[in-house]
Amino acid sequence: MSEIQKNLAGIQQRIRRACEAAGRSPEDVTLIAVSKTKPVSAIREVMQEGICDFGENRPQELRDKYEQLPPGLSWHMIGHLQRNKIKYIIDKVCMIHSVDTVELAEDISAQAVKRGLVIPVLLEVNMAGEESKFGLRPEETEAFARTVSVLPGIHVRGLMTIAPYVEDPEENRVYFRRMKELSIDIARKNIDNVDMIDLSMGMTGDFETAIEEGATFVRVGTGIFGERDYSGR
Ligand SMILES: *Cc1c(COP(=O)(O)O)cnc(C)c1O
Repeated sequence: MSEIQKNLAGIQQRIRRACEAAGRSPEDVTLIAVSKTKPVSAIREVMQEGICDFGENRPQELRDKYEQLPPGLSWHMIGHLQRNKIKYIIDKVCMIHSVDTVELAEDISAQAVKRGLVIPVLLEVNMAGEESKFGLRPEETEAFARTVSVLPGIHVRGLMTIAPYVEDPEENRVYFRRMKELSIDIARKNIDNVDMIDLSMGMTGDFETAIEEGATFVRVGTGIFGERDYSGR
């Protein structure tokens, strides 16, 4: 087993334990291996262990890796997406986690329709109100969901948040809990074409807390692949 494979096994075990502690089934939580900045060789090591879900935050990087790796993987666009870059990924992703403007939703819709696709999307919510982060304010999320619900070619499947970087994951529990509550509130409104099935929340530092609060996707990069080196970008 390689270092990366050992890391992965450790993360998977912690996910199982968190599910057990929360009385949830491990099948209800999908691990997305966040492979941004990492080479395809590292992705292959993770694939060998049966992982199919990978997350990238740059469209061109997602496209390049998609083209170098076998079909059958599920690629998640998890980063801020500029409208002029949708074309690189529209036919390659299984889900876009980061929809936070009507213009972006409209452009994804138009390009999906052109290709005969329906793209599952999540609405990105800035739960902690951090200035530096993208995302909707919690209180505008329902109205936003209504607005984009009428667009063809996209299907709203839930919410995504990037919690603050903290030393102690307990500090983020409140944001995960509020996000779950927000998704329940929106689900109760029975908006056509809006489902609140998925909650994408939790990263290397706080995924267990996110699972306890209802995450269906956790996005783990460093914990699997090791530290990222941004010096060459
Ligand atoms: C990089 C990234 C992650 C993974 O972060 P780690 O702390 O390395 O696990 C998760 N979600 C998003 C949106 C990211 O950009």
